[in-house]
Amino acid sequence: MWGFSILIFIAACLLANSVLLCRRTWTRVPVVCAIVLIPTLMWYLHSPVHRGPPSIMKSVDRASINNNEVRNWADTVHCTPKHILKPSSIDECARIVQNANNVRVVGGGHSWSPLICTNDTIISLEKLCGKPEWHNDSTVTFDAGCFIQDAQLELLKVDKQLHGYGAIQHQTLAGGFMTALHGAQFQNFASNVVEIDAVLANGTQIHVKDDIDTWRGSMGLLGIVSRMRIKVYASKSVLVTESSVTLEEAMLAMDDDTLEAMDVKTIWGTTKDVYHLRTFSAVVEEPITLKHEQHIEAFLHDNVFMPALLVGSRVLRHLPIAQLYYPTFYQHRESIMDAWYTYPEFGFKNAAYSISLPKCLDTIKLIRSLAKPYLVTVEFRKLLDAPGLLTWVTEPSCVIDVSFVDAQISQFDAKMRAFHMDIEDIVEQKGGAAHWGKFYASEYSKLNIRGLQNFTTIRATYDPGGKFLNPMTREIMTGITMKGRYTASAIEMRAGTWRITLLIGFITIMFLSCWPKMSKRQKRVFKPVRGTLYAKI
Ligand SMILES: Cc1cc2nc3c(=O)[nH]c(=O)nc-3n(C[C@H](O)[C@H](O)[C@H](O)COP(=O)(O)OP(=O)(O)OC[C@H]3O[C@@H](n4cnc5c(N)ncnc54)[C@H](O)[C@@H]3O)c2cc1C
Repeated sequence: MWGFSILIFIAACLLANSVLLCRRTWTRVPVVCAIVLIPTLMWYLHSPVHRGPPSIMKSVDRASINNNEVRNWADTVHCTPKHILKPSSIDECARIVQNANNVRVVGGGHSWSPLICTNDTIISLEKLCGKPEWHNDSTVTFDAGCFIQDAQLELLKVDKQLHGYGAIQHQTLAGGFMTALHGAQFQNFASNVVEIDAVLANGTQIHVKDDIDTWRGSMGLLGIVSRMRIKVYASKSVLVTESSVTLEEAMLAMDDDTLEAMDVKTIWGTTKDVYHLRTFSAVVEEPITLKHEQHIEAFLHDNVFMPALLVGSRVLRHLPIAQLYYPTFYQHRESIMDAWYTYPEFGFKNAAYSISLPKCLDTIKLIRSLAKPYLVTVEFRKLLDAPGLLTWVTEPSCVIDVSFVDAQISQFDAKMRAFHMDIEDIVEQKGGAAHWGKFYASEYSKLNIRGLQNFTTIRATYDPGGKFLNPMTREIMTGITMKGRYTASAIEMRAGTWRITLLIGFITIMFLSCWPKMSKRQKRVFKPVRGTLYAKI
């Protein structure tokens, strides 16, 4: 990626020097390159979109633990707990839990919501991913700290796979089970988990089978999951049909239960709405691979599209981006592993709301009207069922993913939050709920979680001292509002300085490009003066 960054820098230098090169004013060229270098270095070293360690690529998987700091993938949460521990055995994990005052587990760190932080002890099970245990009933037991992608690669060796995974597969098995992980298929990830082993707050280890529903989507509040027995399926390819459709046509596809999976995406601006419908059908059971190689696209997203949004989202929203970007019609067969994979598009907070299917079209239209003044990306998927006491889907529902990407707007954080709070009012009116692992701006009491009361009682028996509670989960369990759920974003904190540097650079380059060259006469006059000056210095 260094090569691409240097290429982009050279391209920017050539563009910035274009006038000077035409005018053959060679002496000013290095000065302009130095001016271009300043915002470029700031972009990588003091990023206006990410507050973590300097990096060229943001849309890649990265570790949540850096020395004594824990930072989630989306950079919406970070903390420096007293202890960050990576046990090498479950017994060691049980001892840690027994002796700690307060414990949270970090899986892949891919949740946007502040689920993983505590000031006391954070555990990572990354050292605990051994070989899977095979059973003869289409289930396999994995260590819960394994990444979904690693489990899939293991399964693909014998033409098997997991179901219910999302757009990326860098989450851990336990992290997916503990939140609301789902993909383009109509059942979520946790619905395929049939048994687990777990460590409780007092350090005892238990096996859970009958009571598994209480544990699905329980955000680590009942105990630490160490092993998971999961249903596996035959590996397969699917026919991917992509088309540009209207919202009503996209909703019709939601009614088609014969599909293996589907999703709808678009970017809302001020131009005509065009929706990118993808259906995944005509399943063929066959050996497949998992590739997920899209480095260049991700690089362009991070280092071309993101800067463009920071300086020009207010203009971009008037361009027909969706119309230009999405194909009118395109069909191809693909490994199901790659069919709905997208490189992790870093940069914005992502929220997901569930709404029962009959109310879906109406709700999307209401959200669309709220999005009118902004640039917003959306994705719609469908979940028929997602078992669990804390589930967000109790009847066939559409899942509406929303990201506010209008990065140029002033007071970005406040406007983004207000936009989501308005959506959350609508979601509340429609009796909807939200994904536990995604951004949620309002008080959690607004959510419609039918099993919450029951779960709260059960949680108190598993963990009477509240060892696994943190501010966010305490708010959900007790209603005590968490203060400062999200710190200011990098865009809010740093983008202004970056834009000013860019503007000063631009004005200086314009000035250098337009300033007349010295005439021969000026040179004759100036040369001796310069000589005298240099001599004095
Ligand atoms: C780029 C990107 C794309 C995404 N795409 C999707 C998508 O398509 N669909 C979707 O539904 N979501 C998606 N998400 C959200 C995210 O995948 C979910 O929130 C996810 O399941 C988190 O898994 P994780 O392993 O990263 O867990 P973390 O975020 O690290 O943790 C999640 C929760 O699980 C708990 N936990 C983790 N391990 C254990 C354990 N062993 N025992 C007990 N508790 C544990 C944590 O304490 C925490 O409460 C995406 C996120 C990103 C960043």
